[in-house]
Amino acid sequence: MQQDKIWDYFQVQSSDIFLQSAPRLNYLFRQVLAIYSHTKPRVLNIGVGNGWLEQKCMEQAWETYALDPSETTIALLEQRGIEGKVGYIEQIPYPDNFFDVVFCSEVIEHLSSEQIQQGLYEIERILKNSGLLVGTVPFKENLFNSQVICPDCGHIFHKWGHQQSFNTHSLAAIFSGNLKVEKLKVIYFVSWSSLNWKGVISALLKKCLSLIGLHGNNGNIFFISKKFV
Ligand SMILES: [Zn+2]
Repeated sequence: MQQDKIWDYFQVQSSDIFLQSAPRLNYLFRQVLAIYSHTKPRVLNIGVGNGWLEQKCMEQAWETYALDPSETTIALLEQRGIEGKVGYIEQIPYPDNFFDVVFCSEVIEHLSSEQIQQGLYEIERILKNSGLLVGTVPFKENLFNSQVICPDCGHIFHKWGHQQSFNTHSLAAIFSGNLKVEKLKVIYFVSWSSLNWKGVISALLKKCLSLIGLHGNNGNIFFISKKFV
């Protein structure tokens, strides 16, 4: 599935959609901040969104890079002083053993199985030894629920372009070679400020259930994989 138009639209014309991703990205950022409390990692974010994560990394004076298929998105980041490249996860335009950390949040579910394998091969290549891949995917998403139809051509597609739905076992199974899973768990991220009181009550309930291990299908799987050679 060719998804460039979907992402160009959301990232350039409808970027408010990414405001609700702040709690998730902040969690990933804090995980890395805790690991790299004494040194400054060189980081890459694959799949830019609204540039929130890149900004946080820059504020820590981390050497920060971004990769995204959208030229407009990369141009917007570069205006903010962030080093970005237009490209795809299957062919990452950075050298071997270059990054301490690669972020890949809500990207893998957009890929075919072949693209996932090629993408992980590339991430392993650009990570330094002991480098970390840090990311998320939706947990047990019902792909059917987000299908829409194009009124012009009748093409049926997932509105975000998702092609994969993962549980913890199927996500763990995508990592092979020198990328070994270090952490993998289901988390229910909530953007509290975007909710009305009914939403807050519902979110509190889901969060409580999630904390005792009962996960609906609106959570995310958080993972860290480490490159061992
Ligand atoms: Zn169409």
